[in-house]
Amino acid sequence: MNFPLIYKEKDKNWKIEIQNSIRTIEELIDFFSVEQFKNSPFSYILDSDYKENFKNINKHFRFQVTPYYLSLANIQNKTCPILLQILPDKREILDSHFLDLDPLKEEDNSPVPNLIHRYPDRVLWYISHHCAVYCRFCMRKRKVSNPSSNTIHKFYTSIIQYIKKHSTIKEVILSGGDPLSLEDSLIEKILSDLKQINHLYSIRIHTRMITTLPYRITDKLVQIFDKYYPLTIVTHFNHPIEITSIVKEKIKLLKKSGVTVLNQSVLLKNINDSLPVMEKLCLELIKAGIKPYYLHHCDEVYGTSHFRVSMKKGIELMQQLRGRNPGIAIPLFVVDLPGGGGKVPIQPEYLLKFDPEEKIYYFYNYEFKNIYKIYEI
Ligand SMILES: *Cc1c(COP(=O)(O)O)cnc(C)c1O
Ligand code: SF4
Repeated sequence: MNFPLIYKEKDKNWKIEIQNSIRTIEELIDFFSVEQFKNSPFSYILDSDYKENFKNINKHFRFQVTPYYLSLANIQNKTCPILLQILPDKREILDSHFLDLDPLKEEDNSPVPNLIHRYPDRVLWYISHHCAVYCRFCMRKRKVSNPSSNTIHKFYTSIIQYIKKHSTIKEVILSGGDPLSLEDSLIEKILSDLKQINHLYSIRIHTRMITTLPYRITDKLVQIFDKYYPLTIVTHFNHPIEITSIVKEKIKLLKKSGVTVLNQSVLLKNINDSLPVMEKLCLELIKAGIKPYYLHHCDEVYGTSHFRVSMKKGIELMQQLRGRNPGIAIPLFVVDLPGGGGKVPIQPEYLLKFDPEEKIYYFYNYEFKNIYKIYEI
């Protein structure tokens, strides 16, 4: 590996990590060395065909990975969950399954550019187009990584005004891209402006930086979070190997400053679609002090269908988790309905039937063998 200096520093600087991020195929090959790639299941990366594709795909949706995150990869493992999430694949630009880049019709539910108001009670603010690492399955790849979508300053005042004017809004979700890619001072300004809006009950930050660039959680940032208590941070871990000792330290820091920490994962083919991986992911999350919140069924976004797992498999996993993991280590499996329908939970059917004459509900328990009765009042 060619980044030994960065790893030796004790208190690593997140901006240096970003500066030293790997952005080209040449840098990617250098990171591990040609020799290592030659003798690995990823030797195809050295082919000129792949290099050509890589550059083409990169034009649509950027390749970028932090040295930290790439150091978690194992190129000897052909289903390395880190590499599968970040390596450009030609199926991204040859997707015949899904053709729509915005199947959730986010742009139609956008009263002010970059503010999505789908549910009456909460808004999602697309606040940055930057991420530390670009995930190939990103559901917002039509905008994310594209500088022309970065309009925080342009629409800032109109977004704050919109939220102020609509008193039905109970929560603001800062999302992107990654909100933590913004400077501390700007994050502080946003939190300060939002905290002054009395009808808001909650401010939530959706970030993957704790996974891909944990050094972003600095003492200074945590002091800001403390000042604007209470906040909820929703992290994005998809695989247990992403939960490292540095991640655990940073989560503890966040929680000490009063932040509620939840996690959302995406159900991804060959990455976390097996019971042992999903079980371990949820257990490692609670061990790190994070509550698994959502497990997302992949959205029907152009260029992501190769990550898709059947809904049936997802339901099966949920069924197997219950009774195997503590209840707090089980996320809610959700699907975001195309056309802007919003998210709904998908559950195994525990309620078998209701008999209106007897006024009895018949249930399965987690084992799906015996039947249990509950009397309606
Ligand atoms: C996911 C999402 C939310 C948040 O939904 P919750 O169920 O509260 O987590 C809000 N707005 C939009 C547009 C979303 O996609
Ligand atoms: S971190 Fe989130 S927004 Fe950024 S590329 Fe990954 S999934 Fe998309």
